[in-house]
Amino acid sequence: MLGAIEAGGTKFVLAVSDDEFNIIERQSIPTTTPEETFEKVFKFFDQYDVSAIGIGSFGPIDVNLESETYGYITSTPKTAWEHTDFIGVMKERYSVPMGWTTDVNAAALGELTYGAAKGKHSCLYLTVGTGVGGGAVIKGEPVEGFGHPEMGHILVRKHPEDHFKGHCPYHGDCLEGLAAGPAIEKRYGKKAQELADTEEVWEIEAYYLAQALMSYTLTLSPEKIILGGGVMKQTQLFPLIRDEFTRLMNDYVQTPDMEEYIVSPQLKDDAGITGCLILAQRAL
Ligand code: ADP
Ligand code: ZN
Repeated sequence: MLGAIEAGGTKFVLAVSDDEFNIIERQSIPTTTPEETFEKVFKFFDQYDVSAIGIGSFGPIDVNLESETYGYITSTPKTAWEHTDFIGVMKERYSVPMGWTTDVNAAALGELTYGAAKGKHSCLYLTVGTGVGGGAVIKGEPVEGFGHPEMGHILVRKHPEDHFKGHCPYHGDCLEGLAAGPAIEKRYGKKAQELADTEEVWEIEAYYLAQALMSYTLTLSPEKIILGGGVMKQTQLFPLIRDEFTRLMNDYVQTPDMEEYIVSPQLKDDAGITGCLILAQRAL
């Protein structure tokens, strides 16, 4: 039996599956303090005899096997979780192999194996929600280096009509600072979901996301780009992003067909947890 934790800043999804990744039991718990949350995690996994656990976590996290703080959540804005030894706490309770990467790398792995990028060797997964986060799998491996990518914080060219200064506490007007759900809300004084009919909102949003996707395409050349998260529920964004991307790229790179290249997640809300189960099996 395989175990998985999709550790998000708002909620944790816990699951156990058979060796074919058929989910046997799953539970969603709110992310509160580490103490409270781990107590619930233990209560869930204590019921099963898992042979490995895969964890995809919000971050930033330490994924460097040579680092003393490997397995930690590091400098997160969720202060209660800062410097939490996630893998250490789990290993103390369960002495089984564990896989560990970012929530978005896990989602990319899930979509590559069973979702929108099935049959490909690479894909990029970007979530546009409370924050902007991206993960990628290239030749079957999640992209990691000294740490993990932070694709949400790349710099973008400002839209000439956008006077919002951006809300990223580190960079102000980075991609996340300009395009995450809370940025839309701060720019217009209304929640993104209440602005569905205001065209300008989505033009500006697409202007930023297309630039980001162009940078990811030029640096990683993924076979598919999958866009998820709450803001992408505004599906009118897809054609706007594809058009702006095409305009910016100006035929420099022959990408796959736009409709095939920039797509929605196929596993919907299960991309992350599926990726975590795959991580568990790989850890074995
Ligand atoms: P999280 O990022 O916390 O996992 P979400 O992906 O749902 O959660 O992101 C929440 C953000 O997405 C909020 O800023 C919210 O305003 C925005 N959002 C959620 N649903 C929609 C929607 N249908 N249309 C536009 N924005 C949405
Ligand atoms: Zn930033």
